[in-house]
Amino acid sequence: MRPAPCALNLILMRGIMSENMKVLFLSSEVMPFAKTGGLADVAGSLPIALKNAGIDVRLVMPFYRVVKDTAFENQMLIKDLEIPFGDRTLKANIFETFLAEGIPVYLVEREDMFDRPNLYGDSKGDYYDNLERFSFFSHAALKTSQAIGFKPDVIHCHDWQTGLVPALLKGPYKTSNGLSNAATVFTIHNMGYQGIFTPDKLAVTGLSGPQYFHPEGLEYWGNISLLKAGIIYSDAITTVSPTYANEIMTHEYGLGIEGILLNRNKSLHGILNGVDYDEWNPVKDKHISACYSRKSISGKKKCKEALIKEIALHPNINDKPLLGMISRLDKQKGLDILIPVLEAILGLDTGLVILGSGDQEIENALRKPADEHPDRVAIHTGFNNPLAHRIMAGADIFLIPSRYEPCGLTQMYALKYGTVPVVRATGGLNDTIEQYDEKSITGNGFKFGPYDSKAFLKAVKQAVDIFKDKNTWKKLMSTGMKYDYSWGRSAESYFDIYKSIKR
Ligand code: ADP
Repeated sequence: MRPAPCALNLILMRGIMSENMKVLFLSSEVMPFAKTGGLADVAGSLPIALKNAGIDVRLVMPFYRVVKDTAFENQMLIKDLEIPFGDRTLKANIFETFLAEGIPVYLVEREDMFDRPNLYGDSKGDYYDNLERFSFFSHAALKTSQAIGFKPDVIHCHDWQTGLVPALLKGPYKTSNGLSNAATVFTIHNMGYQGIFTPDKLAVTGLSGPQYFHPEGLEYWGNISLLKAGIIYSDAITTVSPTYANEIMTHEYGLGIEGILLNRNKSLHGILNGVDYDEWNPVKDKHISACYSRKSISGKKKCKEALIKEIALHPNINDKPLLGMISRLDKQKGLDILIPVLEAILGLDTGLVILGSGDQEIENALRKPADEHPDRVAIHTGFNNPLAHRIMAGADIFLIPSRYEPCGLTQMYALKYGTVPVVRATGGLNDTIEQYDEKSITGNGFKFGPYDSKAFLKAVKQAVDIFKDKNTWKKLMSTGMKYDYSWGRSAESYFDIYKSIKR
């Protein structure tokens, strides 16, 4: 798997090996085992960069049905581990599998909680017992660490599903064997998912005392917020880009938690996500029709031809700009500003392919233009990683008109695939995409500011106009392909934070 860049690696090795840092990484999804979005990409690749830098990192995640079905090699490590669950204890089996570089991943098995078709819910909504499931998971992660005798210096928690852990470590686990010295980092991947539950369920968390349920604790407008618990009780908070770190301290993006984040702003850090270039790299992508590189780009044309065939667009799109989008179909992702100008975008003589899963209403709204222009528009629904790779390689222009975007990974993938991004200037999109400037011939893509269809269409039109100038377009693609967002630098920033909170 991908090591951190060499020189940096050495610096890190020297720094970390002497400290013998141990990190327990808790995530509700990890690539390649289970994924619904970017969190899985991060949780599957950041630990590898940390391990390459000398950290003893181990992960804990639920043993979902999808993990069992994909038949990753695993073995049972602990049978019938007792896990606190409200005023009872329940049992879990702990299995072990491995990420690249021999990184242990402990899988928490409990059939009634995790052996389900999906990770968090289905088309009817979230599973009714997500508080129970992820409280159980949080306790199980801590109990697993104790049971295997792993004494973490840092427990790195991700998103609301693990937000209870920092609170548990300041409360019932404060003096627990092997955990009393563990500092916590809580990473916010998306403020839009807060883990809100009704207060009558508080007892299940193990934090039922009045000292936790108040506005300075995990109470949020009368409910329980697990995201807020993570923010309040962790030793350091990170989010996934510098711009998003600033945005979430404002009323517009903070969703009512901005005041608390402002209070904790000295402990809040924006660290840009990295990319796993072993997985997302046209030089060796096993899902695409022809591999290619910046120096030998001809394969991209073949990928476009193959994609157009696969999604049954008219062959004449081979000579026109093909726009691509891969996204959760969610209000966050800007489809509400895309749909009103979809006809106008097609009016620019383009083709369009969208791969998305999520909101049924958004899917229905996209179906209409696809039905009206079957040879120009292809809408594919469902989660399809191989097709995502083929769109990344086969499209010319990649669209990300997000209302907000904590980091965004697809724009960084797009750059590597020579697929020029058109993005809204928010969060990590703002930090990674630089507006193309015709005079100085600088920049790697196209950005727009106001969240409206007109501004978006203008940026798309700009991209389409430049596309027609083959030489300039080639340079733009080539510039983007040079960008390197691998994990080395970000891993160094996480390491600095771990060091600063280590007890
Ligand atoms: P988010 O985490 O908000 O969904 P990111 O850009 O950080 O957005 O990460 C999205 C990840 O999920 C990318 O790896 C993208 O390729 C992938 N993805 C999104 N939707 C689909 C889909 N329908 N099929 C396959 N992969 C998808």
